Amino acid sequence: MASIILAFAEQRDGKLKRAGLEAVSEARRLATALGAEVAGVLVGSGVVSLADEVASYGADRVHVFDDTQLESYSSETYARALAQVIESAKPAAVLVPFTSMGKDLAPRVAAKVGAGLVSDCSSFEVKDGRLEARRAVYSGKAHATLRWRGEPQMATLRPNVFALAEPDGSRKVEVVKETVETTARVRCTAVHATSAGKIELTEAQIIVSGGRGLKGAEHFGLVEDLAAAMGAAVGASRAVVDAGWVDHQFQVGQTGKTVSPSLYVACAISGAIQHLAGMSSSKVIVAINKDPDAPIFKVANYGILGDVFEVLPKLTEAAKAHFAAKA
Ligand SMILES: Cc1cc2nc3c(=O)[nH]c(=O)nc-3n(C[C@H](O)[C@H](O)[C@H](O)COP(=O)(O)OP(=O)(O)OC[C@H]3O[C@@H](n4cnc5c(N)ncnc54)[C@H](O)[C@@H]3O)c2cc1C
Repeated sequence: MASIILAFAEQRDGKLKRAGLEAVSEARRLATALGAEVAGVLVGSGVVSLADEVASYGADRVHVFDDTQLESYSSETYARALAQVIESAKPAAVLVPFTSMGKDLAPRVAAKVGAGLVSDCSSFEVKDGRLEARRAVYSGKAHATLRWRGEPQMATLRPNVFALAEPDGSRKVEVVKETVETTARVRCTAVHATSAGKIELTEAQIIVSGGRGLKGAEHFGLVEDLAAAMGAAVGASRAVVDAGWVDHQFQVGQTGKTVSPSLYVACAISGAIQHLAGMSSSKVIVAINKDPDAPIFKVANYGILGDVFEVLPKLTEAAKAHFAAKA
């Protein structure tokens, strides 16, 4: 029997998260190299219809826990569900996205099934029929290469780092309907979203971030305007958060969020090592700063030496014109 790579296909509000599909895509890539099969795991309410989409990214089989009691994320019940599949399918590896849900879920499941967990991985290689994971350590100053003893080899995957597979709608999927005990000691009774309608920072493809050079909360709107024009999420340096201009949920860096967007625009941010720790794996970095010696220029792919108060309104106008022309 072929071995199995299990991928947690995270969904929220009935929509698959890109990070969940990245886990499925990477599972497919590794399974092809190992001669293994891919099994997806879907947990939620009204989620069975998502199985085809999970399959199109590479799953051969999808284990579906579809229950109204599973509508909101619960550490206890979701961990029970994933652990149940691991115990029955005995996969060689388990991939979970390193999202806020995955960060809570994966360690619990690893403890339940006695698996070793490597978190926040940025790549995998297949060596001698087993996985080797690479992850950043010491705030991105070095990389560690890790291997597991025993199975399952369990890992969380940094969002936006792993390539999405080309979806193939013709893939046939086997849906395995599962049930799980849904009693929990803690139950979510309501969700009060603070950023309703806004793009989650850790999963955003484009981020526009502002720093202390904006001089005051009243000017942070310049960053938000550019972000809105580009369909981007808003980020901030710690100096801005400590000054109370924006909430901590927007902070990027060592003591904030780690992001890997396709495009990161740093506006009046000096590029302190603690900030770089959270964004240096971005694919393209654009820095706007009036100091030619600002450290951010060392990691930037494109640098704009100039005053944010002049550059940002022009960029926002250009972005609006660009997207209006495309619409
Ligand atoms: C333990 C620890 C953890 C930390 N964690 C984090 C973290 O998670 N995230 C984080 O960001 N920081 C973190 N820091 C703080 C970090 O060291 C820096 O202090 C912080 O990142 C600086 O923020 P900044 O770049 O906005 O401000 P500054 O360093 O003051 O830089 C402002 C920049 O704006 C430029 N500028 C000024 N005016 C203009 C203008 N008109 N136009 C264009 N450019 C202009 C300046 O040239 C300068 O480069 C941490 C520090 C410690 C000790």
